[in-house]
Amino acid sequence: MCGIVGYIGSRKAIPIVLNGLKNLEYRGYDSAGIAYRVNNKIEIKKEQGKLDNLVEKVNPDKETFTAIGHTRWATHGKPSVVNAHPHHVGKITLVHNGIIENYDEIKKMLNYATKGETDSEVLAAYINYLYQEEKDILKVLHQLQKNIKGSYALGIIVDNDDAIYCLRKDSPLIVGIGEKENFIASDVPAILDYTKNYYILDNGDYGKITKDEITIYHDGKEVKKEKLVFEFDIASAQKNNYEHFMLKEIHEQKEVLYNTLKSYEKSTLPDLNKYDGITIIGCGSAYYVGMCVKDALEKNLNIKVDVEIASEFRYKRVFFSKKHLVILISQSGETADTLASLMKAKTLGVDTLAIVNVVGSSIARETKDVLYIKAGVEKAVATTKAFTCQLLLLLMLISQDNKYKEFDNLINDVEMALSKEQDIKELAKKVYEHDDVFFLGRLGDYAMCLEGSLKLKEVSYIHSEAYAAGELKHGTISLIEEGTPVIAIITDKEIADKTVSNVKEVKARGAYTIVITNQDVPKDIADDLIKIDLEAVYLPIIVIIYLQILAYYVAVNRGCEIDKPRNLAKSVTVE
Ligand code: GLU
Repeated sequence: MCGIVGYIGSRKAIPIVLNGLKNLEYRGYDSAGIAYRVNNKIEIKKEQGKLDNLVEKVNPDKETFTAIGHTRWATHGKPSVVNAHPHHVGKITLVHNGIIENYDEIKKMLNYATKGETDSEVLAAYINYLYQEEKDILKVLHQLQKNIKGSYALGIIVDNDDAIYCLRKDSPLIVGIGEKENFIASDVPAILDYTKNYYILDNGDYGKITKDEITIYHDGKEVKKEKLVFEFDIASAQKNNYEHFMLKEIHEQKEVLYNTLKSYEKSTLPDLNKYDGITIIGCGSAYYVGMCVKDALEKNLNIKVDVEIASEFRYKRVFFSKKHLVILISQSGETADTLASLMKAKTLGVDTLAIVNVVGSSIARETKDVLYIKAGVEKAVATTKAFTCQLLLLLMLISQDNKYKEFDNLINDVEMALSKEQDIKELAKKVYEHDDVFFLGRLGDYAMCLEGSLKLKEVSYIHSEAYAAGELKHGTISLIEEGTPVIAIITDKEIADKTVSNVKEVKARGAYTIVITNQDVPKDIADDLIKIDLEAVYLPIIVIIYLQILAYYVAVNRGCEIDKPRNLAKSVTVE
């Protein structure tokens, strides 16, 4: 959510910052801006909409060697040029990611008339006010933290001072380490074209970045940070020959599932048998990962497994024993509500285990135990490869066998699913012109439906709902019309007949049915049948891959902006 990039060095800064923002586009945004120093004066350019609108307006050849840029995902005030960052007040120019919760109070205290509606502009005014008193921006950044509430990653330039200043709390920010040049950024892909070396700022860290030096402080004292080196191949952050990141990432599942499988010996994974209850917490698809494995975990461990939406869990009463485990799932490791749920679990004194993709992310650092999936950089906003890797890792946790024998055929089966791309592409042609799609399944099949439905609506903007198959007739069946697509998933032998009856019910009312199954279902219930001849613990991974491809091609047919769907952000760092 939102991208910050800053550059200071000996190369021309504008193209580097714009390229960095381009590489953060996947995070989602609605306007963009850049500030740079020319002949010791700050110039600012901002545009609404796509980054390309800004790129067209800025001269990349300007003699400027210091710049900060921003892609904004509006939280306070509509997307507009005046609300776009950077904000300039007095001697301060600032980009901000996050939310200043007490901005209204500060605004009243300052008696400041803002040009726009953002909390960030008020923050710029406040920093300028403190700077006028204090005259030392580092002291201001220290003091400021006591008086502002909320989340913030900040990039700041100060008039007549050739440095970039930064500060971070609860919104991600890294510092990129170059040769005679340095960077700040919300995430690593922004700097990968220039350096693989970086520091992660912790909550409360603030610093001064010049061309030759990076100095980070915490609580008034200088701190030494651990230098990290980005471990993935840079190509994993590029589109290669694929038209979209989403399709590339769907295909990468073969590799990244293999990498995830090979990364952990069973004996090195946490033993879940010592717990008497488990709660899995996530948002969006990460929540559905939990839903998809709930049944397998319960069967295997013979304990109750609850799956909770992070934004709900935060405010719920909970009754955990001391032998309870909370599992947090987040691709970015920065999801604000999941992070807050982790903090809540910690105060309850129970064990916490995080399953994340981004090494060194906030959730990874706060949790007792962390397991990294090996998905590489995931750029499409709608998750694919991170989802299936998370699912796999949870299934590995309950594997009975040190060598994970039950996954021996996983990669072959993933390849088999990917090889059906053309067939699913054809199927997508029958779906894309409809306004509503329904997914039907029971128990674990229902969980897969939830993810399939979310994927479809995220990228294609078709209204879609997943229904527990038996529940449809209690209201929603009224929406089934002649030709309404209904996608049924039937993989649970014990209840297959029940779902078959539900499919018949919708078919009798004119639905066009697609049935995905590994069971022998009556042929006449399906207008299109996808038969997967497979009985395996990882079957949900295979089914989900079909649904990902379907969502992708439906969106292609509708001409959607697949990698960056409207209103969505990749790393949801606000609550
Ligand atoms: N709250 C700020 C705004 O609405 C920052 C949003 C962001 O993180 O992009 O301008």
